[in-house]
Amino acid sequence: MAFSSSSESPIHVVILPFMAKGHTIPLLHLTHLFFLRRSNIAVTIFTTHANSQFIRQSLHDTKALIIELTFPQNFHPEIPQGVESVDKLPSQSLLVPFCKGTKNLQPEFDTILQSLRPNVSCLISDVFFPWSMEIAAKLNIPRLDFDGASNFAMVFYDILMTQEFPVDSDDELFSVIPSLPDIKLTKNDIEPEFSHPQPGEHTDFYTEVVMAMSKSKGIIRNSFYELEPEFVDYWNKEKSPKAWNIGPLCLLATKVVCSEEKPMCIQWLDEKLEKGESVLYVAFGSLAEMTMEQLREIAIGLENSGEHFLWVLRLPEPSTGDEFMSEFEERVKGRGLLVKNQWVDQVAILSHESVNGFMSHCGWNSVLESICESVPLLGFPITADQNLNARMVEEYFKIGVKVVTRNGSVRGFFSSKCIENKVKELMDIEGEKGKEMRKNVNKLNEKARNAMVEGGSSWRTLNLLIDEVICNKN
Ligand code: UDP
Repeated sequence: MAFSSSSESPIHVVILPFMAKGHTIPLLHLTHLFFLRRSNIAVTIFTTHANSQFIRQSLHDTKALIIELTFPQNFHPEIPQGVESVDKLPSQSLLVPFCKGTKNLQPEFDTILQSLRPNVSCLISDVFFPWSMEIAAKLNIPRLDFDGASNFAMVFYDILMTQEFPVDSDDELFSVIPSLPDIKLTKNDIEPEFSHPQPGEHTDFYTEVVMAMSKSKGIIRNSFYELEPEFVDYWNKEKSPKAWNIGPLCLLATKVVCSEEKPMCIQWLDEKLEKGESVLYVAFGSLAEMTMEQLREIAIGLENSGEHFLWVLRLPEPSTGDEFMSEFEERVKGRGLLVKNQWVDQVAILSHESVNGFMSHCGWNSVLESICESVPLLGFPITADQNLNARMVEEYFKIGVKVVTRNGSVRGFFSSKCIENKVKELMDIEGEKGKEMRKNVNKLNEKARNAMVEGGSSWRTLNLLIDEVICNKN
Protein backbone atom coordinates (compact mmCIF):
# COMPACT_ATOMS: atom_id res chain seq x y z
CA MET A 1 0.00 0.00 0.00
CA ALA A 2 1.38 3.44 -0.90
CA PHE A 3 0.72 6.67 0.95
CA SER A 4 2.50 9.22 -1.22
CA SER A 5 -0.17 11.92 -0.71
CA SER A 6 0.62 12.40 2.95
CA SER A 7 3.77 13.40 4.72
CA GLU A 8 2.57 11.72 7.93
CA SER A 9 3.45 8.08 8.54
CA PRO A 10 0.59 5.74 7.64
CA ILE A 11 -1.87 4.53 10.22
CA HIS A 12 -2.96 0.93 9.87
CA VAL A 13 -6.14 -0.11 11.67
CA VAL A 14 -7.13 -3.76 11.79
CA ILE A 15 -10.79 -4.54 12.45
CA LEU A 16 -12.07 -7.89 13.66
CA PRO A 17 -15.87 -7.83 13.56
CA PHE A 18 -18.05 -10.49 15.20
CA MET A 19 -20.11 -12.69 12.90
CA ALA A 20 -23.49 -11.08 13.60
CA LYS A 21 -24.92 -8.30 11.45
CA GLY A 22 -25.69 -6.04 14.41
CA HIS A 23 -22.01 -6.18 15.40
CA THR A 24 -20.55 -6.04 11.88
CA ILE A 25 -22.61 -3.23 10.30
CA PRO A 26 -21.46 -0.42 12.65
CA LEU A 27 -17.82 -1.42 12.14
CA LEU A 28 -18.31 -1.23 8.37
CA HIS A 29 -19.68 2.28 8.80
CA LEU A 30 -16.67 3.06 11.00
CA THR A 31 -14.37 1.88 8.19
CA HIS A 32 -16.01 4.37 5.83
CA LEU A 33 -15.63 7.03 8.48
CA PHE A 34 -11.90 6.34 8.91
CA PHE A 35 -11.35 6.84 5.17
CA LEU A 36 -13.36 10.06 5.22
CA ARG A 37 -11.42 11.43 8.14
CA ARG A 38 -7.81 10.50 7.38
CA SER A 39 -6.03 10.23 4.04
CA ASN A 40 -3.05 8.36 5.48
CA ILE A 41 -5.04 5.45 6.84
CA ALA A 42 -5.11 1.80 5.85
CA VAL A 43 -7.87 -0.46 7.11
CA THR A 44 -7.76 -4.25 7.08
CA ILE A 45 -10.86 -6.26 7.98
CA PHE A 46 -10.64 -9.89 9.01
CA THR A 47 -13.61 -12.10 8.34
CA THR A 48 -14.40 -15.63 7.16
CA HIS A 49 -15.48 -16.87 3.75
CA ALA A 50 -19.22 -17.09 4.43
CA ASN A 51 -19.28 -13.59 5.91
CA SER A 52 -17.06 -11.88 3.39
CA GLN A 53 -19.56 -11.17 0.61
CA PHE A 54 -21.63 -8.89 2.84
CA ILE A 55 -18.50 -7.04 3.93
CA ARG A 56 -17.12 -6.76 0.37
CA GLN A 57 -20.41 -5.33 -0.89
CA SER A 58 -20.53 -2.77 1.87
CA LEU A 59 -16.91 -1.68 1.40
CA HIS A 60 -16.70 -1.94 -2.41
CA ASP A 61 -16.14 1.82 -2.70
CA THR A 62 -13.23 1.88 -0.23
CA LYS A 63 -9.65 0.67 -0.34
CA ALA A 64 -10.12 -1.56 2.70
CA LEU A 65 -8.26 -4.85 2.54
CA ILE A 66 -10.48 -7.83 3.38
CA ILE A 67 -8.81 -11.01 4.60
CA GLU A 68 -10.66 -14.30 4.95
CA LEU A 69 -9.75 -16.62 7.80
CA THR A 70 -10.64 -20.30 7.70
CA PHE A 71 -13.63 -20.89 9.93
CA PRO A 72 -13.20 -23.94 12.18
CA GLN A 73 -15.32 -27.01 11.44
CA ASN A 74 -16.85 -29.57 13.78
CA PHE A 75 -15.93 -27.76 16.95
CA HIS A 76 -19.34 -28.35 18.52
CA PRO A 77 -21.79 -31.22 17.97
CA GLU A 78 -24.82 -28.93 17.63
CA ILE A 79 -23.26 -26.37 15.29
CA PRO A 80 -23.59 -27.69 11.73
CA GLN A 81 -20.70 -27.50 9.30
CA GLY A 82 -20.81 -24.33 7.21
CA VAL A 83 -22.45 -22.18 9.89
CA GLU A 84 -20.17 -19.17 10.24
CA SER A 85 -22.53 -16.55 11.65
CA VAL A 86 -24.88 -16.26 14.58
CA ASP A 87 -28.02 -15.78 12.47
CA LYS A 88 -27.46 -19.24 10.94
CA LEU A 89 -27.21 -21.05 14.29
CA PRO A 90 -29.95 -23.64 14.87
CA SER A 91 -30.65 -21.88 18.18
CA GLN A 92 -29.44 -18.71 19.84
CA SER A 93 -28.69 -20.80 22.92
CA LEU A 94 -25.55 -21.83 21.00
CA LEU A 95 -24.14 -18.30 21.06
CA VAL A 96 -21.53 -18.98 23.74
CA PRO A 97 -20.27 -22.26 22.17
CA PHE A 98 -20.08 -20.39 18.84
CA CYS A 99 -18.08 -17.56 20.42
CA LYS A 100 -15.75 -20.04 22.08
CA GLY A 101 -15.28 -21.85 18.78
CA THR A 102 -13.96 -18.66 17.18
CA LYS A 103 -10.83 -19.08 19.31
CA ASN A 104 -9.75 -21.58 16.64
CA LEU A 105 -9.25 -18.58 14.35
CA GLN A 106 -6.50 -17.27 16.60
CA PRO A 107 -3.37 -19.01 15.20
CA GLU A 108 -4.07 -17.95 11.58
CA PHE A 109 -5.12 -14.46 12.66
CA ASP A 110 -1.97 -13.99 14.76
CA THR A 111 0.32 -15.14 11.94
CA ILE A 112 -1.26 -12.89 9.31
CA LEU A 113 -1.47 -9.89 11.64
CA GLN A 114 2.27 -10.01 12.25
CA SER A 115 3.00 -10.11 8.53
CA LEU A 116 0.84 -7.11 7.56
CA ARG A 117 2.47 -3.97 6.17
CA PRO A 118 2.44 -1.16 7.02
CA ASN A 119 2.83 -2.37 10.59
CA VAL A 120 -0.45 -2.50 12.45
CA SER A 121 -1.08 0.59 14.60
CA CYS A 122 -4.18 -0.62 16.40
CA LEU A 123 -6.57 -3.58 16.63
CA ILE A 124 -10.30 -2.94 16.90
CA SER A 125 -11.81 -6.20 18.08
CA ASP A 126 -15.31 -7.22 18.97
CA VAL A 127 -15.61 -7.97 22.70
CA PHE A 128 -16.67 -11.50 21.82
CA PHE A 129 -13.08 -12.25 20.75
CA PRO A 130 -11.23 -12.04 24.09
CA TRP A 131 -8.48 -14.15 22.51
CA SER A 132 -7.45 -11.22 20.30
CA MET A 133 -5.89 -9.54 23.36
CA GLU A 134 -2.89 -11.89 23.31
CA ILE A 135 -1.51 -10.84 19.95
CA ALA A 136 -2.16 -7.15 20.65
CA ALA A 137 -0.11 -7.49 23.82
CA LYS A 138 2.62 -9.44 22.02
CA LEU A 139 2.93 -6.81 19.28
CA ASN A 140 2.55 -4.01 21.81
CA ILE A 141 -0.29 -2.39 19.90
CA PRO A 142 -3.44 -0.94 21.46
CA ARG A 143 -6.57 -3.09 21.33
CA LEU A 144 -9.92 -1.27 21.29
CA ASP A 145 -13.08 -3.16 22.12
CA PHE A 146 -16.35 -2.82 20.26
CA ASP A 147 -19.42 -4.02 22.14
CA GLY A 148 -22.25 -2.65 20.01
CA ALA A 149 -24.34 -1.58 23.00
CA SER A 150 -25.34 1.71 24.60
CA ASN A 151 -23.63 3.25 27.62
CA PHE A 152 -26.75 2.93 29.76
CA ALA A 153 -27.02 -0.78 28.99
CA MET A 154 -23.43 -1.41 30.00
CA VAL A 155 -23.81 0.70 33.14
CA PHE A 156 -27.04 -1.07 34.13
CA TYR A 157 -25.59 -4.51 33.43
CA ASP A 158 -22.63 -3.65 35.60
CA ILE A 159 -24.81 -2.39 38.45
CA LEU A 160 -27.33 -5.24 38.28
CA MET A 161 -24.57 -7.82 38.26
CA THR A 162 -22.45 -6.39 41.04
CA GLN A 163 -24.84 -4.77 43.51
CA GLU A 164 -27.47 -6.22 45.81
CA PHE A 165 -31.04 -4.92 45.72
CA PRO A 166 -33.50 -6.07 48.40
CA VAL A 167 -36.41 -7.23 46.22
CA ASP A 168 -38.92 -10.03 46.70
CA SER A 169 -39.06 -11.02 43.05
CA ASP A 170 -37.17 -10.56 39.79
CA ASP A 171 -40.06 -8.42 38.54
CA GLU A 172 -40.07 -5.95 41.42
CA LEU A 173 -39.06 -2.45 40.39
CA PHE A 174 -36.29 -0.67 42.28
CA SER A 175 -34.32 2.56 41.93
CA VAL A 176 -30.78 1.98 40.77
CA ILE A 177 -28.43 4.63 42.16
CA PRO A 178 -29.15 8.25 43.04
CA SER A 179 -26.47 9.74 40.78
CA LEU A 180 -28.21 8.34 37.69
CA PRO A 181 -31.57 9.37 36.19
CA ASP A 182 -34.35 7.75 38.20
CA ILE A 183 -35.16 4.85 35.90
CA LYS A 184 -36.58 1.97 37.88
CA LEU A 185 -35.35 -1.47 36.85
CA THR A 186 -36.09 -5.08 37.68
CA LYS A 187 -33.66 -7.98 37.86
CA ASN A 188 -35.49 -9.37 34.84
CA ASP A 189 -34.31 -6.45 32.71
CA ILE A 190 -31.18 -8.48 32.08
CA GLU A 191 -30.89 -12.14 31.14
CA PRO A 192 -31.03 -14.63 34.05
CA GLU A 193 -27.53 -15.86 33.10
CA PHE A 194 -26.28 -12.42 34.15
CA SER A 195 -28.64 -11.60 37.03
CA HIS A 196 -28.13 -15.03 38.61
CA PRO A 197 -24.80 -16.25 37.22
CA GLN A 198 -24.04 -19.95 37.73
CA PRO A 199 -20.66 -21.63 37.40
CA GLY A 200 -20.21 -22.98 33.87
CA GLU A 201 -19.51 -22.20 30.26
CA HIS A 202 -21.54 -18.97 30.11
CA THR A 203 -19.99 -17.38 33.18
CA ASP A 204 -16.50 -18.54 32.17
CA PHE A 205 -16.82 -16.98 28.74
CA TYR A 206 -18.10 -13.61 29.97
CA THR A 207 -15.38 -13.54 32.63
CA GLU A 208 -12.83 -13.90 29.81
CA VAL A 209 -14.56 -11.08 27.90
CA VAL A 210 -14.40 -8.76 30.92
CA MET A 211 -10.76 -9.67 31.62
CA ALA A 212 -9.71 -8.89 28.04
CA MET A 213 -11.73 -5.67 28.08
CA SER A 214 -9.98 -4.52 31.26
CA LYS A 215 -6.66 -4.71 29.39
CA SER A 216 -7.96 -2.82 26.37
CA LYS A 217 -7.13 0.79 25.64
CA GLY A 218 -10.78 1.71 25.34
CA ILE A 219 -14.25 0.76 24.22
CA ILE A 220 -15.69 2.14 21.03
CA ARG A 221 -19.36 2.90 21.60
CA ASN A 222 -21.87 3.42 18.84
CA SER A 223 -23.63 6.26 20.61
CA PHE A 224 -23.22 10.00 21.14
CA TYR A 225 -22.70 12.02 24.27
CA GLU A 226 -25.86 14.12 24.05
CA LEU A 227 -28.05 11.00 23.88
CA GLU A 228 -27.12 9.61 27.29
CA PRO A 229 -24.74 12.09 28.98
CA GLU A 230 -25.24 10.86 32.56
CA PHE A 231 -24.36 7.32 31.55
CA VAL A 232 -21.30 8.27 29.51
CA ASP A 233 -20.07 10.34 32.46
CA TYR A 234 -20.85 7.56 34.93
CA TRP A 235 -18.96 4.97 32.88
CA ASN A 236 -15.94 7.16 32.33
CA LYS A 237 -15.79 8.19 35.99
CA GLU A 238 -16.54 4.86 37.67
CA LYS A 239 -15.49 2.25 35.14
CA SER A 240 -12.72 1.49 32.72
CA PRO A 241 -11.46 1.34 30.08
CA LYS A 242 -12.64 4.64 28.69
CA ALA A 243 -15.74 4.62 26.47
CA TRP A 244 -15.27 6.53 23.20
CA ASN A 245 -18.66 7.60 21.83
CA ILE A 246 -18.24 8.17 18.13
CA GLY A 247 -21.72 7.51 16.71
CA PRO A 248 -24.37 7.16 15.63
CA LEU A 249 -22.49 5.29 12.90
CA CYS A 250 -25.68 4.52 10.95
CA LEU A 251 -25.51 8.12 9.70
CA LEU A 252 -22.80 6.77 7.40
CA ALA A 253 -25.24 4.32 5.79
CA THR A 254 -25.70 4.96 2.10
CA LYS A 255 -29.26 5.47 0.92
CA VAL A 256 -30.95 3.83 -2.08
CA VAL A 257 -30.66 6.36 -4.90
CA CYS A 258 -31.47 4.58 -8.14
CA SER A 259 -35.23 4.34 -8.76
CA GLU A 260 -34.86 1.44 -11.29
CA GLU A 261 -33.33 -0.76 -8.61
CA LYS A 262 -35.92 -0.10 -5.94
CA PRO A 263 -36.74 -3.23 -3.95
CA MET A 264 -40.34 -4.35 -3.93
CA CYS A 265 -40.98 -3.19 -0.36
CA ILE A 266 -39.78 0.34 -1.17
CA GLN A 267 -42.06 0.42 -4.21
CA TRP A 268 -44.91 -0.65 -1.93
CA LEU A 269 -44.04 2.20 0.45
CA ASP A 270 -43.99 4.61 -2.51
CA GLU A 271 -47.56 3.55 -3.33
CA LYS A 272 -48.62 4.13 0.28
CA LEU A 273 -47.06 7.56 0.19
CA GLU A 274 -48.89 8.45 -3.00
CA LYS A 275 -52.18 7.52 -1.34
CA GLY A 276 -51.25 9.48 1.78
CA GLU A 277 -51.25 6.33 3.93
CA SER A 278 -49.03 6.17 6.97
CA VAL A 279 -47.12 2.92 7.52
CA LEU A 280 -45.89 1.06 10.60
CA TYR A 281 -42.62 -0.80 9.98
CA VAL A 282 -42.37 -4.05 11.96
CA ALA A 283 -39.03 -5.88 12.29
CA PHE A 284 -37.09 -7.66 14.98
CA GLY A 285 -33.49 -7.51 13.76
CA SER A 286 -31.28 -10.20 12.35
CA LEU A 287 -31.35 -12.79 15.14
CA ALA A 288 -34.63 -12.75 17.05
CA GLU A 289 -36.21 -16.09 17.74
CA MET A 290 -39.97 -16.15 18.30
CA THR A 291 -42.46 -18.95 18.70
CA MET A 292 -45.18 -19.38 16.06
CA GLU A 293 -47.68 -18.68 18.84
CA GLN A 294 -46.13 -15.24 19.45
CA LEU A 295 -45.86 -14.50 15.74
CA ARG A 296 -49.57 -15.27 15.31
CA GLU A 297 -50.41 -12.99 18.21
CA ILE A 298 -48.48 -10.17 16.54
CA ALA A 299 -50.38 -10.86 13.31
CA ILE A 300 -53.76 -10.60 15.06
CA GLY A 301 -52.68 -7.42 16.84
CA LEU A 302 -51.56 -5.83 13.58
CA GLU A 303 -54.73 -6.88 11.78
CA ASN A 304 -57.00 -5.53 14.51
CA SER A 305 -55.10 -2.25 14.78
CA GLY A 306 -56.40 -1.24 11.36
CA GLU A 307 -53.00 0.32 10.53
CA HIS A 308 -50.97 -0.13 7.33
CA PHE A 309 -47.82 -2.11 8.02
CA LEU A 310 -44.69 -3.54 6.45
CA TRP A 311 -43.60 -6.59 8.43
CA VAL A 312 -40.16 -8.06 7.81
CA LEU A 313 -40.13 -11.41 9.56
CA ARG A 314 -37.91 -14.38 10.14
CA LEU A 315 -40.14 -17.44 10.16
CA PRO A 316 -38.88 -20.60 11.81
CA GLU A 317 -38.00 -22.86 8.83
CA PRO A 318 -40.66 -25.61 9.09
CA SER A 319 -43.36 -22.94 9.43
CA THR A 320 -42.79 -21.09 6.15
CA GLY A 321 -45.95 -22.71 4.80
CA ASP A 322 -47.94 -21.95 7.97
CA GLU A 323 -51.65 -21.93 7.12
CA PHE A 324 -52.56 -19.26 9.65
CA MET A 325 -49.95 -16.88 8.26
CA SER A 326 -51.05 -17.50 4.66
CA GLU A 327 -54.67 -16.72 5.54
CA PHE A 328 -53.60 -13.67 7.52
CA GLU A 329 -51.57 -12.42 4.57
CA GLU A 330 -54.60 -12.80 2.33
CA ARG A 331 -56.89 -10.94 4.75
CA VAL A 332 -54.58 -7.94 5.16
CA LYS A 333 -53.63 -7.73 1.46
CA GLY A 334 -53.26 -4.12 0.38
CA ARG A 335 -52.96 -2.90 3.95
CA GLY A 336 -50.09 -5.04 5.14
CA LEU A 337 -47.04 -6.39 3.35
CA LEU A 338 -45.04 -9.33 4.69
CA VAL A 339 -41.42 -9.79 3.67
CA LYS A 340 -40.37 -13.26 4.80
CA ASN A 341 -36.84 -14.48 5.49
CA GLN A 342 -35.23 -11.79 3.34
CA TRP A 343 -32.63 -9.17 4.02
CA VAL A 344 -33.97 -5.63 3.55
CA ASP A 345 -32.32 -2.24 3.68
CA GLN A 346 -33.71 -1.19 7.04
CA VAL A 347 -32.30 2.33 6.96
CA ALA A 348 -33.91 2.89 3.55
CA ILE A 349 -37.26 1.72 4.94
CA LEU A 350 -37.03 3.90 8.03
CA SER A 351 -36.07 6.90 5.93
CA HIS A 352 -39.11 6.46 3.69
CA GLU A 353 -41.54 9.32 4.11
CA SER A 354 -44.53 6.99 4.52
CA VAL A 355 -43.03 5.25 7.60
CA ASN A 356 -44.31 6.81 10.80
CA GLY A 357 -43.64 4.18 13.41
CA PHE A 358 -41.30 1.25 14.05
CA MET A 359 -42.33 -1.80 16.04
CA SER A 360 -38.91 -3.14 16.95
CA HIS A 361 -37.17 -5.60 19.24
CA CYS A 362 -35.05 -2.58 20.19
CA GLY A 363 -31.65 -3.92 19.20
CA TRP A 364 -29.35 -0.95 19.77
CA ASN A 365 -28.72 -0.43 16.05
CA SER A 366 -32.44 -0.37 15.37
CA VAL A 367 -33.01 2.21 18.11
CA LEU A 368 -30.26 4.44 16.71
CA GLU A 369 -31.50 4.04 13.14
CA SER A 370 -35.01 5.02 14.25
CA ILE A 371 -33.66 8.12 15.98
CA CYS A 372 -31.61 9.03 12.92
CA GLU A 373 -34.72 8.82 10.74
CA SER A 374 -37.03 10.51 13.29
CA VAL A 375 -39.32 7.49 13.61
CA PRO A 376 -40.87 6.79 17.04
CA LEU A 377 -40.72 3.24 18.35
CA LEU A 378 -42.93 0.54 19.76
CA GLY A 379 -40.58 -1.63 21.79
CA PHE A 380 -41.08 -5.38 21.59
CA PRO A 381 -37.98 -6.65 23.42
CA ILE A 382 -36.94 -10.28 23.17
CA THR A 383 -33.48 -10.84 24.64
CA ALA A 384 -30.01 -9.41 25.46
CA ASP A 385 -30.01 -5.62 26.12
CA GLN A 386 -33.38 -5.19 24.40
CA ASN A 387 -35.47 -4.96 27.58
CA LEU A 388 -33.27 -2.14 28.85
CA ASN A 389 -33.33 -0.42 25.46
CA ALA A 390 -37.12 -0.64 25.22
CA ARG A 391 -37.47 0.70 28.76
CA MET A 392 -35.20 3.65 27.96
CA VAL A 393 -37.02 4.36 24.69
CA GLU A 394 -40.20 4.88 26.69
CA GLU A 395 -38.99 6.29 29.99
CA TYR A 396 -35.74 8.18 29.30
CA PHE A 397 -35.72 9.23 25.64
CA LYS A 398 -39.56 9.39 25.59
CA ILE A 399 -39.58 8.51 21.90
CA GLY A 400 -41.90 5.54 22.04
CA VAL A 401 -43.95 3.06 23.98
CA LYS A 402 -43.46 -0.62 24.70
CA VAL A 403 -45.59 -3.71 24.92
CA VAL A 404 -46.28 -5.28 28.30
CA THR A 405 -46.75 -8.95 29.02
CA ARG A 406 -50.04 -10.52 30.08
CA ASN A 407 -48.87 -11.08 33.67
CA GLY A 408 -46.92 -7.84 34.04
CA SER A 409 -43.54 -9.60 34.10
CA VAL A 410 -40.76 -8.09 32.01
CA ARG A 411 -40.39 -11.40 30.18
CA GLY A 412 -43.17 -13.45 28.71
CA PHE A 413 -45.96 -13.49 26.21
CA PHE A 414 -47.34 -10.35 24.56
CA SER A 415 -51.05 -10.54 23.76
CA SER A 416 -52.65 -9.42 20.52
CA LYS A 417 -54.85 -6.97 22.44
CA CYS A 418 -51.83 -5.23 23.96
CA ILE A 419 -50.07 -5.15 20.58
CA GLU A 420 -53.19 -3.70 18.92
CA ASN A 421 -53.54 -0.98 21.56
CA LYS A 422 -49.87 -0.02 21.52
CA VAL A 423 -49.77 0.09 17.72
CA LYS A 424 -52.75 2.45 17.74
CA GLU A 425 -51.06 4.58 20.40
CA LEU A 426 -47.83 4.78 18.41
CA MET A 427 -49.52 5.56 15.11
CA ASP A 428 -51.84 8.22 16.55
CA ILE A 429 -49.82 11.00 14.97
CA GLU A 430 -52.23 13.76 15.96
CA GLY A 431 -52.77 12.57 19.54
CA GLU A 432 -51.01 14.35 22.39
CA LYS A 433 -48.64 11.45 23.11
CA GLY A 434 -48.04 10.85 19.40
CA LYS A 435 -47.03 14.49 18.94
CA GLU A 436 -44.81 14.43 22.02
CA MET A 437 -42.92 11.28 20.89
CA ARG A 438 -42.38 12.78 17.45
CA LYS A 439 -41.17 16.07 18.89
CA ASN A 440 -38.69 14.22 21.12
CA VAL A 441 -37.40 11.95 18.37
CA ASN A 442 -36.91 14.96 16.07
CA LYS A 443 -34.87 16.68 18.77
CA LEU A 444 -32.65 13.61 19.25
CA ASN A 445 -32.28 13.30 15.50
CA GLU A 446 -30.94 16.85 15.35
CA LYS A 447 -28.55 16.18 18.23
CA ALA A 448 -27.34 12.98 16.53
CA ARG A 449 -26.57 14.80 13.31
CA ASN A 450 -24.85 17.64 15.17
CA ALA A 451 -22.69 15.13 17.03
CA MET A 452 -21.37 13.68 13.78
CA VAL A 453 -20.63 16.87 11.80
CA GLU A 454 -17.32 18.70 12.02
CA GLY A 455 -16.82 20.04 15.53
CA GLY A 456 -19.60 17.86 17.03
CA SER A 457 -19.01 15.64 20.07
CA SER A 458 -18.59 12.36 18.16
CA TRP A 459 -16.48 14.07 15.52
CA ARG A 460 -14.11 15.40 18.18
CA THR A 461 -14.05 12.11 20.06
CA LEU A 462 -13.04 10.20 16.95
CA ASN A 463 -10.25 12.71 16.30
CA LEU A 464 -8.97 12.25 19.83
CA LEU A 465 -9.25 8.48 19.56
CA ILE A 466 -7.18 8.46 16.38
CA ASP A 467 -4.55 10.79 17.79
CA GLU A 468 -4.29 9.51 21.35
CA VAL A 469 -4.87 5.79 21.01
CA ILE A 470 -4.53 4.69 17.40
CA CYS A 471 -1.50 6.88 16.63
CA ASN A 472 -0.34 6.77 20.23
CA LYS A 473 0.73 10.43 20.16
CA ASN A 474 0.65 10.86 23.95
N1 UDP B 1 -30.86 -5.20 9.31
C1 UDP B 1 -31.11 -4.87 7.99
N2 UDP B 1 -31.95 -5.66 7.27
C2 UDP B 1 -32.56 -6.74 7.78
C3 UDP B 1 -32.32 -7.08 9.15
C4 UDP B 1 -31.47 -6.28 9.88
O1 UDP B 1 -30.58 -3.88 7.46
O2 UDP B 1 -33.30 -7.41 7.06
C5 UDP B 1 -29.89 -4.40 10.06
C6 UDP B 1 -30.51 -3.30 10.91
O3 UDP B 1 -30.72 -2.14 10.15
C7 UDP B 1 -29.45 -3.14 11.99
C8 UDP B 1 -28.90 -4.54 12.17
O4 UDP B 1 -29.20 -5.25 10.97
O5 UDP B 1 -28.42 -2.31 11.52
C9 UDP B 1 -29.53 -5.28 13.33
O6 UDP B 1 -28.99 -4.78 14.50
P1 UDP B 1 -29.85 -4.60 15.82
O7 UDP B 1 -28.90 -4.15 16.88
O8 UDP B 1 -31.00 -3.72 15.60
O9 UDP B 1 -30.42 -6.03 16.12
P2 UDP B 1 -29.78 -7.52 16.16
O10 UDP B 1 -29.96 -8.08 14.80
O11 UDP B 1 -28.35 -7.37 16.55
O12 UDP B 1 -30.62 -8.20 17.18
